[in-house]
Amino acid sequence: MRRLYFDHAASTPVDPRVLRAMRPYFSREFGNPGSLHSFGQKAIAAVDTARESLGKFIGVKHFREIIFTSGATEANNLALCGAVEFYKKHHPANEGVDVSARPRIIISSIEHESIFETAQVLEQYGVEVVRLPVNKEGIVDIIALKDALNDDTVIVSVMHVNNETGTIQPLREIRFMIDEFRKSVPHGDDPYPLFHTDAAQSFPYLYCDVGLLGVDMMTLSAHKMHGPKGVGALYVRRDEKNFSASGGFPLIAQATGGGQEFGMRSGTENVPGIVGFAKAAELAAAARGKTSTRVAALRDEFWRRIKLAAPTAEINGPAGDAKAPHILNIHFPGHAAQDLLTRFDRAGLAASSGSACRSRAVESSYVIEALGYSKERAGSSIRFSLGRETTKREIAAAAKIVEKALL
Ligand code: PMP
Repeated sequence: MRRLYFDHAASTPVDPRVLRAMRPYFSREFGNPGSLHSFGQKAIAAVDTARESLGKFIGVKHFREIIFTSGATEANNLALCGAVEFYKKHHPANEGVDVSARPRIIISSIEHESIFETAQVLEQYGVEVVRLPVNKEGIVDIIALKDALNDDTVIVSVMHVNNETGTIQPLREIRFMIDEFRKSVPHGDDPYPLFHTDAAQSFPYLYCDVGLLGVDMMTLSAHKMHGPKGVGALYVRRDEKNFSASGGFPLIAQATGGGQEFGMRSGTENVPGIVGFAKAAELAAAARGKTSTRVAALRDEFWRRIKLAAPTAEINGPAGDAKAPHILNIHFPGHAAQDLLTRFDRAGLAASSGSACRSRAVESSYVIEALGYSKERAGSSIRFSLGRETTKREIAAAAKIVEKALL
């Protein structure tokens, strides 16, 4: 049986060119980047080259603004927890200016679990968390953001592309709102609030230049762009003036030890993973324009076929342009998602009911519910996600499987 993979938002296959680039670093060039001898030098040179290369694709000012991590989850944890801890330690409130003030973080109500749950943990430690509502398309409420910004806001974290609905968030508008807020109160040199985005889903399809997006921090993950699992990065805009105590980073490290990654993330670097990540980013960036157009056309064709086969089916998420090309979230009224997924899988089609990080749980998607839909609708919705190797024939074959499963 031919297997059809429509779950690229969960993970993508490693590109053979990425595998080739990684291979020497598993065996011949196996040194520890921290070692002084030639084995170590080869390894650290590979890490630095990868850092420079990745930096170029996201428009960093200096390659030392990239911190390699074990993936987007760790990068998101570092961004939120690291920023809050730093703020608590260094902010004037700690020196008696206003001790009653609780640090605030602002996130959207449809963030990935690695932001959502992390914010919940911070809340238990006394941080105030504001979760911004979204509209039916999943687009964050900018006016709610305006109302939520206050002097104690440490960080605003809104994802670039949602992993369940494909919604693209208006990051430039969010930047504008933050700037307006900063102008409206006498801030002096105070660089807060910081602005972070989780771009794990967007890099292969959307331009992710940190300057153009207007972000201070950005999360990436290699396995969403045909790179290996277990490696990602946090871009952090270095601000030597305000954060000189920590080498320009507004963060406290969450993993301490040998001081790798400029002291921001200790642990021996995943050299093959990092090399593969940079290669995957290079290939994804080079193919981005073509891939986006092609995948969007395939997605539209898939939806056309599904709507013909199941006229009551509806899209969850954006109807207009604010959507990434690869994700299509569909509500099939009267069908339980888990039943459908089992039927699809038996016929050879792999899709999911939402985030892979939660899909083993039976609970329905909080993302779909945050769009204003019922629990029932969330429980009868399927996410299909295409990739750069998806073909027209696969679209036709997958649509047939869906049609049969609905009978
Ligand atoms: N953020 C988003 C938007 C994601 O889609 C994912 C992957 N499901 C993650 C974070 C977590 O990425 P990783 O697997 O690299 O930890």
